[in-house]
Amino acid sequence: MFMKYKFYGTAAAEGIPAIFCECETCKRAWEKGGKNIMTRSQSVIDDTLGIDFPADTYLHILNYGLPVTDISTFIITHKHSDHFYVNDFFMHSPGYAYVPEDKEIDIYTTKLGYDYAAEALVGAFGVSVRCHLIEDFVPFVTKEGYKVTPLKADHCVDAVIFLIEKDGKCVLHSNDTGYYPKETWDWLEKNRTYINFAEFDCTMCGFNTENDRHHNHSNFSTVENIKRRLEKMGCINEQTICVLNHFSHNYGMIYDDLKKYGDAKGYLTAYDGLEVNF
Ligand SMILES: [Zn+2]
Ligand SMILES: [Zn+2]
Ligand SMILES: [Zn+2]
Repeated sequence: MFMKYKFYGTAAAEGIPAIFCECETCKRAWEKGGKNIMTRSQSVIDDTLGIDFPADTYLHILNYGLPVTDISTFIITHKHSDHFYVNDFFMHSPGYAYVPEDKEIDIYTTKLGYDYAAEALVGAFGVSVRCHLIEDFVPFVTKEGYKVTPLKADHCVDAVIFLIEKDGKCVLHSNDTGYYPKETWDWLEKNRTYINFAEFDCTMCGFNTENDRHHNHSNFSTVENIKRRLEKMGCINEQTICVLNHFSHNYGMIYDDLKKYGDAKGYLTAYDGLEVNF
């Protein structure tokens, strides 16, 4: 059974070109267009399981056909706006949308995201939108049958990395993290789950130093270090599809440049609309 993973948004918080920005990288992205235009972070598995919910969700529905009426579970990595634009969940309430009575939206998120939703969704929280608090290393199963294990990320707020498993396939969703914290390496070491598809935070794409152990976000060398350690543990091998994702304009590279690096090192380079079946 194939799993389908589709990227709808592949940029960091500002987007590429960045909102308000006049830098050379953003100018190049405007000129080149196509895959060089990247919106805020969002992916969907099997047209069914949503990962993250930025303000660009609406644009993803309009322009890229994100099948939002087929999705009733969103797993959210953390509260930052490029991953959780909570206000749009209000639009799932009576008076804003006509949805079948038995259809409920489930959101799984971390403590700060949960508190944020409780504050912003008064009237909808627990009524038209069900919010579930997740904890590091405590797996849960969505109503579609995906087993999701949140692992602790290295980020400036309580963010998580997701291991998502169904029908013998496993996805590692690893945005907004630096080099993984010790607790996460310990968990991975103990469980040694084989990963078929891994996507890695590459926010600081052009910033490349040997043996990097970056905090908050990753660059090329952080990703290489994470990948090598996962390989040593047997969690990934040459069959694993590895993808660079979540890019920022701050490091001078647009998609055309990123792809050259990705191709040379054996990674797919994510762009808005990339679909992978495995
Ligand atoms: Zn982000
Ligand atoms: Zn810029
Ligand atoms: Zn973040």
